[in-house]
Amino acid sequence: MKLFLKINLIVIITGLFLSCTGNPKSKDIVERKPNIILLIGDGMGLSQVSSVFYFGEGNTNFTRFTEIGLFGTSSATEEITDSSAGGTAFACGEKTYNGAVGLNADSVEIPNLVELLSLKGYNTGVISTSSVTHATPASFYAHVPSRKREEKIAKQLVSSEIDFFAGGGISFFNGRTDKVNLLDQLSANGFQINTRIESEVPDSNSKYGFLLAEDGMPTMIDGRGDFLTDYTKFALDYFSRSGNNFFLMVEGSQIDWAGHANDTDYLIGEMIDFDRTVGIALDYAKQMGNTLVIVLADHETGGFALSSKDGNYSTIEASFATGGHTATLIPVFAYGPGAETFKGIYQNTDIFHKIISVTE
Ligand code: MG
Ligand code: ZN
Repeated sequence: MKLFLKINLIVIITGLFLSCTGNPKSKDIVERKPNIILLIGDGMGLSQVSSVFYFGEGNTNFTRFTEIGLFGTSSATEEITDSSAGGTAFACGEKTYNGAVGLNADSVEIPNLVELLSLKGYNTGVISTSSVTHATPASFYAHVPSRKREEKIAKQLVSSEIDFFAGGGISFFNGRTDKVNLLDQLSANGFQINTRIESEVPDSNSKYGFLLAEDGMPTMIDGRGDFLTDYTKFALDYFSRSGNNFFLMVEGSQIDWAGHANDTDYLIGEMIDFDRTVGIALDYAKQMGNTLVIVLADHETGGFALSSKDGNYSTIEASFATGGHTATLIPVFAYGPGAETFKGIYQNTDIFHKIISVTE
């Protein structure tokens, strides 16, 4: 311990000395690894992002980014990905088959960002407007051959490295076919579990789980309110208190569901909510520094288009080309340390490698 302190002091003193002498690399010596906030708008293509420019609440937070890239989303087996293969590409850095969570195309378990960053001393969390056991959040902590196995995914959450989670899905914990009550197991593993919306997260060092709906959370139209923004703030407060680095994944899950439903009002409600949440993350990163914010999607849903209405170029009419996913390239927006590495055109799996390289 003493030796460690001594070495640290030498590093700090050397760093200070080098910064006084103007060596541009000196900052690297004393700087901490960045925190990572990864915001996933499930099914959010460029037209979905564009919709908040036309139908949103004034200035959108997307205009605050200067580092922007594009990536391809195909899975190992299909041109068009689903959310589990898409989530696994970000979380584990490998393309896999549609339906797989945390496994490669040969069905072998592969380490995810939560596991890898925990080893580097990061605290980790997931927040989702779907069930916390749904494909996208599950990709960050679970390993199952099919995304449909949400009871198994719930079991894996209990023993995962996750420190904070919030979303729906309580039925996969306490209404299970095996009759096991996973809420008890979560408590035994140091989690404080809450099943109703809190106005404030209590100030304590325990881990937190918020399971606020039987399955998915309500839609914005049906009164989900400020869940996504509030719980993103709670998580950021919680992680700030711990003093450790953190990795937080926040998902606007229902942008995808609105696309499947070809429902423009549903979609815009979900996009406005997601845009506000992006603002919370950017405000935090700007205020606290040393935080990389990445905003992206696993794929586009609905073939959403903002077209002219009957050839009238002064009116935008939203429409959909499909009830499923599409193969269009997906935009990625980044802010903070390492943001410039997200420029260019690449594959969804590169997101994982870029995050790993920024945290090395
Ligand atoms: Mg999803
Ligand atoms: Zn979908």
